[in-house]
Amino acid sequence: MSSHHDVVIVGGGNAGISLAAKLRRMGCRDVAIVEPKQVHHYRPLLSYVAGGLAAMDDLTREQSRCIPEGCTWYTDEAMAIDADRAVVRLSTGEELHYNDVAVCPGSRVDWDAVPGAWEAVGTTAAATNYLPEMAEKTWTMLSSLTAGRAVFVISDRHVPCAPVGLKPLFMAADHWRDAGVLDAIEIDLLVEAERLVNHDDADRELRAAAADYGVRVRTGARVEAVDAAARNLRVRTAGGSDELGYDALYVAPPHRAPEWVAESGLATAESDGFVAVDPGTLQHRVHPRVWGLGDVATVDTLPSGGALRKQVPVVAHNIAANRAGRTLRHYDGYSVAPVTTSRRELLLAEFDRDGRPQPTISTPDLVRPRRSTFVFDRYLEPQIYWHRLLKGNVS
Ligand SMILES: Cc1cc2nc3c(=O)[nH]c(=O)nc-3n(C[C@H](O)[C@H](O)[C@H](O)COP(=O)(O)OP(=O)(O)OC[C@H]3O[C@@H](n4cnc5c(N)ncnc54)[C@H](O)[C@@H]3O)c2cc1C
Repeated sequence: MSSHHDVVIVGGGNAGISLAAKLRRMGCRDVAIVEPKQVHHYRPLLSYVAGGLAAMDDLTREQSRCIPEGCTWYTDEAMAIDADRAVVRLSTGEELHYNDVAVCPGSRVDWDAVPGAWEAVGTTAAATNYLPEMAEKTWTMLSSLTAGRAVFVISDRHVPCAPVGLKPLFMAADHWRDAGVLDAIEIDLLVEAERLVNHDDADRELRAAAADYGVRVRTGARVEAVDAAARNLRVRTAGGSDELGYDALYVAPPHRAPEWVAESGLATAESDGFVAVDPGTLQHRVHPRVWGLGDVATVDTLPSGGALRKQVPVVAHNIAANRAGRTLRHYDGYSVAPVTTSRRELLLAEFDRDGRPQPTISTPDLVRPRRSTFVFDRYLEPQIYWHRLLKGNVS
């Protein structure tokens, strides 16, 4: 079986649905989306589920309600892309021919990267909200701790919006303070990157907030292995290897691209299995009718939903410009990290790929933790996502 579509989009997550809607708004008549999942998650709220301030229902919609009108939806998985033949092959064996293809199946947790981590999150003493099915368990684990050591681990290997891994920490620490047990809990934060976030002022604010809760912060710290039975981590820092026990363990684990991306020849030696696009134009480095965006693409900045607000219009514009022989637009690497510093306040770090601040508004300074930004992130942003971003209202 085979069909033909003007544009085929692989992945109906934040990137794929927003791009499909944007292309439809721009007059593209024949857009197909390949997406196997029947539900769509607004993933930023997973942090609030892990912090006890949201439920899974708040972030879940039927995928059928998200697919933009007029698009063809294939409820299958893409297995391969043959860029020379301009074909996407589905798990059913069906082939979709395209004029242009946008590749955005996201990334996935790479449990193999940290031996023992998968076994650990199978116990009651460890959890991650990077898997939707474990987000509620994360809060159960954190909120039931009344004494001992809580360890929070944030990898820097392709983790989507990695600094938001700090949200469960700060919401839990605030809860422990309210519950009067903060003094009985030792909190260790192990961050693999050298900074908590790629923004000087925000990094300073977050370190100050951590100090206020008595959190011991170690950056440049890579967790090499977890011993689930002994509740123990092996950590490597510049100073050498160390062991650390835990009573509760939170992980923002390493991620990787789906294997079929490299098997389809869309990765390069440098791209670590991710879709090798020009980080400016988001056009594939070898195949000009292949585009990559979102967590799966080498966009050379922090992958985030906020970054997609800028990437989606660039890809939509560039597909048309490339066909017409016009100049392609460039994405400057804008990304964003909204981080709660308590159960009431949040700071917003916005920056480009060189860590230069790129605030959407200049006053007030959103890098200072505020109640208003917290309310925006928890309550307004989800509405903007469902009603504007997924409807292609991005420019
Ligand atoms: C816990 C958590 C908190 C976050 N918080 C924030 C935040 O506060 N702010 C922010 O800006 N960003 C945040 N992010 C990051 C943001 O959610 C991602 O950057 C964004 O979802 C990336 O969109 P995407 O479409 O590239 O990937 P995804 O949203 O992962 O979507 C990929 C889609 O592709 C589908 N797919 C996978 N494989 C195939 C295949 N073979 N064939 C077809 N379809 C396939 C999947 O089912 C999925 O629907 C957070 C992420 C997580 C996990």
